[in-house]
Amino acid sequence: MKLIIASNNAHKLVEIRAILGGAFAQIVSLREAGIEHETVEDGETFAQNAEKKAREIAALSGCCALADDSGLCVDALGGAPGIFSARYAGVHGDDAANRKKLLRTLEGEERRGAHFSCAVALVYPDGRLVEAEGRVYGEIARREAGENGFGYDSIFYLPEYGCTMAQLEAEKKNAISHRSNALHALLEKLK
Ligand code: IMP
Repeated sequence: MKLIIASNNAHKLVEIRAILGGAFAQIVSLREAGIEHETVEDGETFAQNAEKKAREIAALSGCCALADDSGLCVDALGGAPGIFSARYAGVHGDDAANRKKLLRTLEGEERRGAHFSCAVALVYPDGRLVEAEGRVYGEIARREAGENGFGYDSIFYLPEYGCTMAQLEAEKKNAISHRSNALHALLEKLK
């Protein structure tokens, strides 16, 4: 069966192919499927957004569709920025501004606990839904460290590894990430 990923993000595609490659005959991006579509992400949870994206692509294509939605949840902020992670500082996708705002907001705050969360949703052409969630727990660092990754990686400290997510090699990050955890949980459900 062919699976369409509701994304054109090359890193996500590599990660998804590596984990779900054995379960589908072919895994293609939106672009590779010839689909140009932007879902309005107006859900209240990661899961709602992922399901909405997957449902729209499954309906448009008549194929299986997989979507994910993820973000950073900070304990001291009651789980914010959460579903608003990409535009925390106002401009969608301005990672540097988002990190700066978060560091400033947490200045003087002793509670540094946080987690990345990722929801994945797989929708079959007949509308059946299989969903899963994955998390990775850590702390918001006091300053940036590391060059790898994207988003909040350089301020997300992993006590177990003694470094930030941005100081891990891509392979290592992919092995422990919230997205990887979610995809592995999804794979178990598919089995
Ligand atoms: P998306 O669901 O992949 O679009 O991610 C939404 C936002 O959450 C991104 O713009 C990042 O700010 C943040 N985010 C999600 N996953 C990660 C990650 O693995 N590292 C750092 N930031 C992330």
